[in-house]
Amino acid sequence: MGIFEYAPAPESRDLANLKPQYRPFVNGEFVDGSGEPLKTINPATEEVLAEVGTASVSDVDVAVKAARKAYNGVWAKMPGSERAKYLFRIARLIQERSRELAVLESLDNGKPIKESRDSDVPTAAAHFFYHAGWADKLDYAGYGPNPKPLGVAGQVIPWNFPLLMLAWKIAPALATGNTVVLKPAETTPLTALVFAEICQQAELPPGVVNILPGAGDIGAALVGHGDVNKVAFTGSTEVGKAIQRQIAGTAKKLTLELGGKAANVVFDDAPLDQAVEGIVNGIFFNQGHVCCAGSRLLVQESIAEELLEKLRYRVSTLRLGDPLDKNTDIGAINSAEQLAKIKGLVESGDAEGAERWTSPCPVPERGFFFAPTVFSDVQQSMRIAREEIFGPVLSVLTFRTPDEAVTKANNTPYGLSAGIWTEKGSRILWMANQLRAGVVWANTFNRFDPAAPFGGYQESGFGREGGRTGLEAYLDV
Ligand code: NDP
Repeated sequence: MGIFEYAPAPESRDLANLKPQYRPFVNGEFVDGSGEPLKTINPATEEVLAEVGTASVSDVDVAVKAARKAYNGVWAKMPGSERAKYLFRIARLIQERSRELAVLESLDNGKPIKESRDSDVPTAAAHFFYHAGWADKLDYAGYGPNPKPLGVAGQVIPWNFPLLMLAWKIAPALATGNTVVLKPAETTPLTALVFAEICQQAELPPGVVNILPGAGDIGAALVGHGDVNKVAFTGSTEVGKAIQRQIAGTAKKLTLELGGKAANVVFDDAPLDQAVEGIVNGIFFNQGHVCCAGSRLLVQESIAEELLEKLRYRVSTLRLGDPLDKNTDIGAINSAEQLAKIKGLVESGDAEGAERWTSPCPVPERGFFFAPTVFSDVQQSMRIAREEIFGPVLSVLTFRTPDEAVTKANNTPYGLSAGIWTEKGSRILWMANQLRAGVVWANTFNRFDPAAPFGGYQESGFGREGGRTGLEAYLDV
């Protein structure tokens, strides 16, 4: 079957309501940060989108004081049924402004509009709806009667899912009665600052949510601030470890959601066409900038050749290009730094003797793009089998027996997610028991639900976000 020709179907960038300038949000107001302003760019075109005021270390102190005042004065003592109303309001406002948020996210991050529109923004709203439902039912969450919040939460998030990671952090914090100071990633601050407008629209009491754009030093100042009670971080394992060292010996409660190198395991009885779709979704969703991406494909040897052929054909049909085009499957890499990291790791794959296949899709000359790539003949010792590439690059290894699959899947310092493809239910359950991963998907991949706890083992971090279990991270229990 030939590949369809698609006419361009660009979403209008006017929907983003892009402003020339954005500012930090402290105590219910947009303020002039005293840090050096940064310019955020569109990674698909390298054009400057807006100038963003940033916080300095002294602004961190002002924001934490505002959060403390709101915590003591209003938020912690407000009945859960009242807090819930604010969360419901925020959720509905995210829905109302969903097209604006989706376009803005795609402009700032580079992800395809169909993903920001159909995945990031609706799931962000779903997190607020879900946690709004918990706010007045915390007595029944399994932590005893009347569980108490912790206080001020300092939250630091990465650039791969800017609005969604914000929702994962802020929704449970507010539902449980904590107040928040959040630092978005340097390259993707815009949707967080529109979220601040939504907090104003929802008439959230001043100081309950504060947003401080800035670089890593502001993240470090925030997590190290003496009046922060809870730290929640999503990002690289390296920074996660630094945060753990920084706050060791303090009473701060910590959750870390870090990197991954997930195994997606395909057995010879799997429905191959469905598995191919799951493999593609597992590694090429969001350009592979996903901590739980299925970046190591483990295929049973007897079907490896057939599966690889189907996979290469399917990957060659993925459309790469303008993130705002509704037909685009693969958008831009978020930054020049990330693109350089991906290229470096791919070169190491070549040098170490893996076989590289790259989709022949056209690649735009401007902007940061990387064509989807599949490495076969990968050995466990190679860097592309061990390190998080965080890009549209799949490493394929083979196995013969279920035991070998488990041993190889678990041969990683990480442990965030895994996938299993087989017709046999008993094998799914056996594998799920053996795999040391926080989330195990069976005959699917990259499924997210606010009711399902998410988190890792080993160097993928600790603590869970989402579901009843995720509430614990924000309660004094
Ligand atoms: P980082 O871990 O550096 O960034 C995550 C967040 O932490 C950002 O907001 C960052 O700010 C901030 N930060 C940086 N240094 C500190 C610090 N010392 N204390 C507190 N906060 C800090 O990830 P990168 O963006 O540099 O990406 C590097 C690699 O990390 C990627 O190639 C990928 O492999 C992995 N990664 C994994 C993610 C995951 O979800 N597991 C998410 C993002 C990256 P700033 O934006 O200014 O750097």
